[in-house]
Amino acid sequence: MTSTRSSVINKSEAAHSAERVSIFDAYSDGYCPQCMLEGRRESMVLNRDDFWECPVCRLQAHSASGGMFAILRQRGERKLKDTLAREHVVGQVLTKDLGARFPRADSSGFGSEQELRAFLDTELRDKPAS
Ligand SMILES: [Zn+2]
Repeated sequence: MTSTRSSVINKSEAAHSAERVSIFDAYSDGYCPQCMLEGRRESMVLNRDDFWECPVCRLQAHSASGGMFAILRQRGERKLKDTLAREHVVGQVLTKDLGARFPRADSSGFGSEQELRAFLDTELRDKPAS
């Protein structure tokens, strides 16, 4: 019995590490990219500015033309809509916002998880509430 249980655990650990490698693919399910980097799956929900916001780290993003999903350079304020029927972002390419006056996606996207981490560390204006 004990050996069966431990093999189940090993399988689930393998699945988990595979998820982490494919963060950019996994993202299109509507999960927060920053929380994904930290190994958590948090669904992003619409806030009152009609941006997607993570209820945990307050990362904001918007859906842009061309199937882009652009991370804003400013975090949200947890003014989330009352979303009983939660919508999900699906099939979007992860990128960053250009930081102009109006939301506009940088069409180059993130080339790697490292690029995404660098952006989160250096270009986001407000650190997540911990
Ligand atoms: Zn998050």
